Amino acid sequence: MNLPYALRAHTPIRPLWICRACAGPWPCAHARLTLKGEYENDRPGLSVYMTTVLHEAVADLYRLDPSELDTTAMFTRFVGWTRCTAFGTYLPPPDPSTTEKRQPPPVNR
Ligand SMILES: [Zn+2]
Repeated sequence: MNLPYALRAHTPIRPLWICRACAGPWPCAHARLTLKGEYENDRPGLSVYMTTVLHEAVADLYRLDPSELDTTAMFTRFVGWTRCTAFGTYLPPPDPSTTEKRQPPPVNR
């Protein structure tokens, strides 16, 4: 029996990491909303959880096709959206194209 779209769980199909309900990249908007609700009182816990999920996804997708793996995009997709301000509002994920790369500190000799 096929459930209506709204009742399907927006969980990932592994190892592709696409949403079981809407077929978008997981976590889709519905999954992110559900996770934010589940971790409403533990936002650092949400970041820790999604970092663990990121590691699993990178391992899966690397096994499928290492040439297509963009780790910066993966970080943004899985963890970047979990950032929140001191006031509890979520920040948009960072744009990797505008993020400056950190330079190592100068060496004093
Ligand atoms: Zn979905």
